[in-house]
Amino acid sequence: MNKKVKICFAVIAVIFILSSAASFFVLRSREHRSGSRREVLILLDNKVIYRIDLDSEHDRTFRIDCGNGRNDVTIENGQIRISDADCPDQTCVKTGELRNLLPIVCLPHKLVIRFADEE
Ligand SMILES: [Zn+2]
Repeated sequence: MNKKVKICFAVIAVIFILSSAASFFVLRSREHRSGSRREVLILLDNKVIYRIDLDSEHDRTFRIDCGNGRNDVTIENGQIRISDADCPDQTCVKTGELRNLLPIVCLPHKLVIRFADEE
């Protein structure tokens, strides 16, 4: 009888540990997905100069001085884009809003805007 009770407790303990571990991993992966999905990094010459969470960001435009030029970055309706730049090719402006896999790159200014979870 005593042995049976012990086994019963062991089984309950194992089930408890497994289920709490499972819920922990489910919660963590869910957190990871929504947590870093919308986080954007702005890099100048391969160094992170801004880390922006698009979900909590208000609409605004700010200027980045890249040393040899400038880029105006606009955050609007949870989207980020380069609205104006004085680079010769204007590729960064034409790229438009940041999409999932395509970073916004301004080659002449060595400026890159991309999502953080692609590291
Ligand atoms: Zn550019």
